Amino acid sequence: MSEITRATPVVEYTGRKGGIINGANVTDPNKILPMRYPWARTHYKKGVANNWVPEEVSMQQDVELWKKQGALSEDERHMILWNLGFFSTAESLTANNLVLAIYRHITNPECRQYLLRQAYEEAVHTDTFIYCCDTLGLNPDEIYNMYLDVPSITAKDEFVTEMTRSVFDPNFTTEGVANTQAFVHDLVGFYVIMEGIFFYAGFAMMLSMLRKNRMVGIGEQFQFILRDESVHLAFGADLINTIVKENPDIWTPEFKTELTNNIMRAVEIEHMYVDDTLPRGIVGLSPNTIKQYVEHIADRRLERIGLERKYHKDNPFPWMSEIIDMPKEKNFFETRVTEYKTGELDW
Ligand code: FE
Ligand code: MN
Repeated sequence: MSEITRATPVVEYTGRKGGIINGANVTDPNKILPMRYPWARTHYKKGVANNWVPEEVSMQQDVELWKKQGALSEDERHMILWNLGFFSTAESLTANNLVLAIYRHITNPECRQYLLRQAYEEAVHTDTFIYCCDTLGLNPDEIYNMYLDVPSITAKDEFVTEMTRSVFDPNFTTEGVANTQAFVHDLVGFYVIMEGIFFYAGFAMMLSMLRKNRMVGIGEQFQFILRDESVHLAFGADLINTIVKENPDIWTPEFKTELTNNIMRAVEIEHMYVDDTLPRGIVGLSPNTIKQYVEHIADRRLERIGLERKYHKDNPFPWMSEIIDMPKEKNFFETRVTEYKTGELDW
């Protein structure tokens, strides 16, 4: 018997039994066909359709604007720097959670295929911020330390890290109600809160610059990232909903309240980030409107995972939905709303 012979009693893989988690003994992670969760495949295909790399986008106009004295206001520069500071490390935090915490507990092969795709996209996003730092000549020590030095950024990162801590324990398993709940906590922390709420004030700020034809290179890159992230969080929500469906005992009133409270706390933390990043507002964009947008999307995230809405706010930025749904090959400035269909990815 060689070293690599299975030490545990040989388990017969019995086709596609076993759930999306805890299927290790009954799900063959290498056998992707036939598929059990077609939604995972759909999200994979959407990710492929959005394929892009940062070098496709010219930074020439951004470099001119950034370096020309007085071309951008101090408030605009501050807003851009704070958002670059948050995103430059948030993408790595997200990738690490995927690879080091989530991946080994998801045994279903079509979900793993999606997770690999998402991990690659997070690498592309990380690369985008390297490209921005390089082209604009930013100080990497300043940008990459902001998640430690800027309290409103640290608060966001610490909040999700805390929600996911137990899953990073090498001895963690998803067996039993409490552990499955801890795992769902991780998924809500990263997919719903980090990618679904903490990214969106920044998206609204940077894309409103794009709408004003300022910093169009970074704006276009944020547009690509936003489209990727909207698929990430759709996958995350489908994953959460499937775990809940297959493990109904975890979905207690107490657990739902805990998750709802976490999401509401995240909205407060995001409001502090808005006040810190855009203290006075800039032309066409006020801190209060961004906060209303954060509350609006928080309700959509709550509903998407079967929880009750809390804020009941209208969407102050309908153009954000238009950007999410615009096909990759369409240019933002040359495309009229009638040319693309809305509502598919935007939730
Ligand atoms: Fe990302
Ligand atoms: Mn992501």
